Amino acid sequence: MTQVSDVPNSPRVFQSDDVRKIKDRLDILDVVGDKVRLHRAGQGYMGLCPFHNEKTPSFRVYPDRQNYHCFGCGKGGDIFTFVMETEGLDFRQTLKVLAERAGVTLLEGSKKRVSGNLHEVMEMAGRFYRSLLSAPEGEPARAYLERRRITTETASRFELGWSGSGWDSLWRTLQGEQVTTQEALDAGLVLEGQRGGFYDRFRGRVIFPIRDVTGRLIAFGGRIVDGEGAKYVNSPEGVLYSKRRNLYLLHAAKNAIKEKKRALLVEGYMDALRLHIHGYSEAVASLGASLTEEQAKLLKRFTDRCYICYDNDAAGQEATLRGMYILQNLGLDVHVISLPSGKDPDELLRSEGGKELFDEAIGRARPLVLQHLHAVRPSLTDPAGRRRGIRSLFEGLAQLQPTVVAPYVSQLAGALDLYPNEFRQELEQFRRGKRDQPKEERRSEEKKRMFVHDPLEAALCAMLWRDDELRRSCRPEEMLPLISNEDVKEIVLAILMESPQELETRWHSMNERFPLTFIAWGGAFCEELEYPRDADSWNTVLVGLARKRVKERVDVLDARMKRNEATIEEMAEFQRLATQLKGGRKGT
Ligand SMILES: [Zn+2]
Repeated sequence: MTQVSDVPNSPRVFQSDDVRKIKDRLDILDVVGDKVRLHRAGQGYMGLCPFHNEKTPSFRVYPDRQNYHCFGCGKGGDIFTFVMETEGLDFRQTLKVLAERAGVTLLEGSKKRVSGNLHEVMEMAGRFYRSLLSAPEGEPARAYLERRRITTETASRFELGWSGSGWDSLWRTLQGEQVTTQEALDAGLVLEGQRGGFYDRFRGRVIFPIRDVTGRLIAFGGRIVDGEGAKYVNSPEGVLYSKRRNLYLLHAAKNAIKEKKRALLVEGYMDALRLHIHGYSEAVASLGASLTEEQAKLLKRFTDRCYICYDNDAAGQEATLRGMYILQNLGLDVHVISLPSGKDPDELLRSEGGKELFDEAIGRARPLVLQHLHAVRPSLTDPAGRRRGIRSLFEGLAQLQPTVVAPYVSQLAGALDLYPNEFRQELEQFRRGKRDQPKEERRSEEKKRMFVHDPLEAALCAMLWRDDELRRSCRPEEMLPLISNEDVKEIVLAILMESPQELETRWHSMNERFPLTFIAWGGAFCEELEYPRDADSWNTVLVGLARKRVKERVDVLDARMKRNEATIEEMAEFQRLATQLKGGRKGT
């Protein structure tokens, strides 16, 4: 079994006090529990091994010895090896991560910051925003929070902040702390202006910090207070932050979720905060209405039950329902809460007797199957809508295990004017129809899926996939802004982070066929265009993608100008980009 003392290259100086202090303060059940769902088993705990793919748990954690061992693949160790291997960090980085988590100041001694630690840069920004909220200039933000009935204590408990309204107050502060331009850009905190200067991404906004499941600060959400502009601005997707992989407040809610054996899922920051204030400390926000598989897996680590409380219009929409089926199919029991008179949780809980009403609504929550029926019910009355509605319902039901549907058969049948038997037959037929769908048809569906994607993005993936050197020389923060599609961004990021061999194994084991098909499609596209495999074809792809992104931006700005909504800066940006587009490849 590997213990930290056996790890080669772990400098001796760290072995002594730091490691011991960290191990004293952290429990392996918490550290491993963030990644693996654990169940008590005899003297220890067990779960599905994070290091190899398995269906029955052979991974064991022993709290008394503070170590773990997998009887399937033989991996074992302590909290240090666990974090190193699951996060892909070296010993020094792991030490920093765990020290931060344990609240241990490392004896390393030096006060100078280690450059390149973006979490540290984010924490600086977080402190800056918090200090502005209580400063005299934080008045507009405090007034806004007061209107929303957020007290000073709540604001400080949830680390809310104020960005200030200046153009570069944060950027100047970060520079004073020796943060480099590249770090500030990578952290998504500043943007480059037209004349080469830099300015703050968040201006005139109340700041909500977003932490990952382990508590690291990875992004900010900014709510505008007065004036015009988007209601919310968020940190960009990038090296630190991926919206689809995170849930707001999960780090604060995870223990309550385990204890209460359920998660409460809402849409917005304010809803999640309000629930925590009223004692629902198991609440998290999905930062958008459609749930992703990654978010579902994240929740599944902590519980088997999820109560979803979205805006009434959102809860019945196809995309939202799809997200709920993802949760249900991962083995979570999904219930949907409808609030009286179309209120959101924040509004309801602020009103007189709100908590009682909310508790009642939880008691009345509909299981997913009945929620879906409820959503399509209005359409069942007219013939055209009826076919669409039934199809949508059957598409959903067919994904579920028959045992999940069974308790509701009589209700479902009744709503569709069928006898329970007829209903069962119809559903079975529908299910079989899907399974027997000819291969040819499935393939053409896959092709259709390709059709909505950009062949240039596929070509980029294919080139990175087959060229080791190219892959090593490319940085995610340069590549990701060129890509428009979120799924493709994931693929590019994966290719840049892992080797093709590792990825092939992982994708196969997870039965994810899209990435490899997509890369193959890109390869075919390269050959079709007879791109030679040299720097020229690579540049052609990069320039092509960059132009597309500029073109999209120009269209957005153009639309805003036509609606008279563009700011002076946006008009200037439009001029600059439009000239750039006309001037061919110059400047792209
Ligand atoms: Zn294993």
